[in-house]
Amino acid sequence: MDSRKESLLNLERSHHKEEIFQSIKWAKERDPQSRILYSDAFYHKYTYYIGSAVILALVTYVALHSSFPEIVLSCLFGYIIAQTKFVFGHMATHAAFIDHRDTGYKLPPGVLIAYLHHYDSPGVMPRNYIVHRLGTFTDFAYALCFNYWAAWIIPVLLFDIYSLIPLYAFFWFWWWFEQPGHDWYHHPKTWFSPPMRCILTVFEKIGILDQTKHDIHHNHTKDSMEDACHFTDFYCPPAEWLAGFSWKFLLKQQAKGYSIHKTSYVLMGLGMVFLAALPSCIAYIFLLSLPFCP
Ligand SMILES: [Zn+2]
Ligand SMILES: [Zn+2]
Repeated sequence: MDSRKESLLNLERSHHKEEIFQSIKWAKERDPQSRILYSDAFYHKYTYYIGSAVILALVTYVALHSSFPEIVLSCLFGYIIAQTKFVFGHMATHAAFIDHRDTGYKLPPGVLIAYLHHYDSPGVMPRNYIVHRLGTFTDFAYALCFNYWAAWIIPVLLFDIYSLIPLYAFFWFWWWFEQPGHDWYHHPKTWFSPPMRCILTVFEKIGILDQTKHDIHHNHTKDSMEDACHFTDFYCPPAEWLAGFSWKFLLKQQAKGYSIHKTSYVLMGLGMVFLAALPSCIAYIFLLSLPFCP
């Protein structure tokens, strides 16, 4: 066991630690790209801290250099794109759980923590949050390259890149907020820093965070993984609807005899289509609305 790696990842000292290490080792050896993503140079808490600082600096810069209506529009549209991106990643994670149960498919570390979170102990995720948060970049690397970057090539080619910076900044901002928001459902409120506690309390009061709905999401077992529902962690009816439709589609294909592994690729493909279309459509509406912002 590597104690340096353990502290670089803020891993909890628990019986899951060896399992998480083995998963990192396995994931690292999958392909040349994974060797970089899970390397000692990249895969540690400072990458997460620096990434967080960059996102917060970018959104602060945008907030200071934009008019109020522009900030409101970027915040709203960035929120919708981030939630839609999230539900497809979340469903792909649940499809990997089914694959793991039925075929023994190995789970990469962030997905493994999500699995333990669902079917062992919910607190595993906030207590090993670095590995889980880095997992959104590393575990489905090819799909995520598309979600984070390639999906934006179309709007950037179609429209003016400079005008899209506020929208892109808020998209990242909401993506970044996703995981602390989810931890709010499972961890004592005193675990959060006072500013984060204030913001998440407001989110809960106004209904952006919904504990009851998230409890329903968890209300299934290893034997009834297909019953998972409510894939959004933050209130977003369009993303919820897309997720419901796509998850049913996945289960229908599985019922026809297609393997969950193959159908989960279909799910990711669907997500990619939506995620390619959505930033383009939203960017178009966003740019149309800008002239009306004083
Ligand atoms: Zn889940
Ligand atoms: Zn949860």
